[in-house]
Amino acid sequence: MKQSQLFAKTRKETPKDELSLNAILLIRAGFIDKLMAGVYTFLPLGLRVMKKIEGIIREEMEKVGGVEIFMPTLQPKFNWDQTGRWDTMDDLFKLDKSKDSELALGPTHEEVISPLLKRFISSHKDLPRYIFQFQNKFRNEKRAKSGILRGREFIMKDLYSFHANQKDLDEYYEKQKEVYARIFKRLELEEKTYLTYASGGSFSKYSHEFQTITPAGEDIIYICPKCKMAINKEIIEDLENKCPNCGNTNLLEEKAIEVGNIFKLGTKYSAPFQLNYQDEEGREKPVLMGCYGIGLSRLMGTIVEIFNDSKGIIWPKSATPFQVHLISLGQNEEAEKIYAELEEKGIEVLYDDRDISAGEKFYDSDLIGIPIRVIMSKRSLENGGIEYKLRSEDKSRIIPLNNINKEIETFYLA
Ligand code: ATP
Ligand code: MG
Repeated sequence: MKQSQLFAKTRKETPKDELSLNAILLIRAGFIDKLMAGVYTFLPLGLRVMKKIEGIIREEMEKVGGVEIFMPTLQPKFNWDQTGRWDTMDDLFKLDKSKDSELALGPTHEEVISPLLKRFISSHKDLPRYIFQFQNKFRNEKRAKSGILRGREFIMKDLYSFHANQKDLDEYYEKQKEVYARIFKRLELEEKTYLTYASGGSFSKYSHEFQTITPAGEDIIYICPKCKMAINKEIIEDLENKCPNCGNTNLLEEKAIEVGNIFKLGTKYSAPFQLNYQDEEGREKPVLMGCYGIGLSRLMGTIVEIFNDSKGIIWPKSATPFQVHLISLGQNEEAEKIYAELEEKGIEVLYDDRDISAGEKFYDSDLIGIPIRVIMSKRSLENGGIEYKLRSEDKSRIIPLNNINKEIETFYLA
């Protein structure tokens, strides 16, 4: 993409109404725009990052049998009355249009998927099922001050699993744990992300959260350095301040953000909707459910909180909006050729073809944070090629024009 076509511009000044680093950097670099507290537009660069994250999650969900659907945002009160959550869920956005047509904007989708699956599950032969979606969720969060870490409208992947028995649910739950770990690894968050014991709700003793350590986090967790696991503060007393895995009492307190959460729901939602099946002997039994959530916009914010320096964002390879930032300093004819060649090879290029100073181009490039920058200038051509620099390093070097491809491919394969 040519940068002259990117309508969203970068900003030098810090937006006055933002306190959080992720929102400040993303707004300044032109990835998002704030509409109101906790509600943001994803601009072209931001949307590309979101699509990268979505692609990774989709691939991983499909590897464990996930089948994608798209459920409605607008949901009738009737369904929420079945589970009693119309009155108990504090942050539910309700649209009281009239007494007869009360609606809510979906904060989660158990109330839609459970009656949906009731139409398609009747026998043990219809189980198990694993169904997921990417959807905007709405929650009237009281403290929407953390940029895209806590939106009032935000993007989530939610997968729901349906099982005939506990063993099957338990096994699938363990698979999802591994899949989640793989997603965080692909996003280069694995070092800072901990599988964390959290409260389980009514059905199971614990649920598991995936917590990423960052000062921007709103949760407190206790890490067991031996097991590389953690415990959420909300249950540390119940666990007598010990690691539930190895009994270690030397736990480290950290601030963290919950990037994902997996839950064994059991019959919590199947019971109110009579989501049942017939077993081999023809007996009617409730379906057991699990749910597996991950916040895409929160993940994007978390990545920014972790990967940045004083000049801007430094994207991990798998989430970067473009693979290469090509900058032309008065050599548009030559740069144009390279741009076409790279695109031809399937490399994602942001090409700065704008008629502005070198200083401004470099400033924007640092802010945007694409991992590789290549600069086409009179000097680089005189020296036999193009200047190649990583966003994470200060030094640059000249590489011959016909080597660019290979350099880029090698970098992204490493
Ligand atoms: P929190 O305790 O941070 O409010 P939660 O327990 O309400 O999170 P879940 O209902 O389990 O979150 O939602 C699944 C995932 O959706 C979370 O792990 C998180 O990644 C994401 N998420 C939840 N609330 C928000 C929000 N307001 N903004 C952005 N992402 C969110
Ligand atoms: Mg919440």
